[in-house]
Amino acid sequence: MADVAIVGGGPAGLSAALFLEKNGQNTTVFDTDATRIHKAHLFNYPGIGSVDGTAYLETLRTQVDSFGVTRQQAVEVTDVSTAEDGFALATDDGQHEADYLVLATGADRRLAETLGCEFDGDTVDVNVTMETTVDDAYATGAMVRAEE
Ligand SMILES: Cc1cc2nc3c(=O)[nH]c(=O)nc-3n(C[C@H](O)[C@H](O)[C@H](O)COP(=O)(O)OP(=O)(O)OC[C@H]3O[C@@H](n4cnc5c(N)ncnc54)[C@H](O)[C@@H]3O)c2cc1C
Repeated sequence: MADVAIVGGGPAGLSAALFLEKNGQNTTVFDTDATRIHKAHLFNYPGIGSVDGTAYLETLRTQVDSFGVTRQQAVEVTDVSTAEDGFALATDDGQHEADYLVLATGADRRLAETLGCEFDGDTVDVNVTMETTVDDAYATGAMVRAEE
């Protein structure tokens, strides 16, 4: 069982994974690779100059892998629910459990709704630590901000 399950392997999910694993948390990322970063050409990330979004993603994936994160690529999480001790995730590849959950699914906020997270308008309501209104469930990236 992972300490932390992250749903979404775009910039937000992979950034969370990097720092979690660096700090000793056994972290698994589930991702369907529909990240908008594939359509972007980045020029405003400090330290990387001007780079194609897909190239940036590949570098980030390599970095995350080198820290020991488990990446379940092309695995969709179809349901999330609270369990007796953490969270249960249903995927098209079977069932998974984790103590903590990070939702980083971009503009697709359906899993946050399924879990029962409260919303602030169209976006998922989080506190200053990015924790949602569901204990031990966090949300980050595009799903918590209104602007593109
Ligand atoms: C044309 C364009 C240009 C842009 N240019 C820039 C730029 O220059 N600089 C900049 O900073 N930003 C830019 N952006 C914005 C940037 O792409 C987004 O801010 C960023 O991708 C958001 O990251 P995220 O990780 O929150 O979400 P996303 O990148 O959307 O990633 C979400 C990931 O979650 C996965 N996912 C969703 N649901 C599930 C599920 N149920 N199970 C498993 N996986 C799931 C998706 O497949 C996806 O891979 C641009 C965007 C576009 C469209």
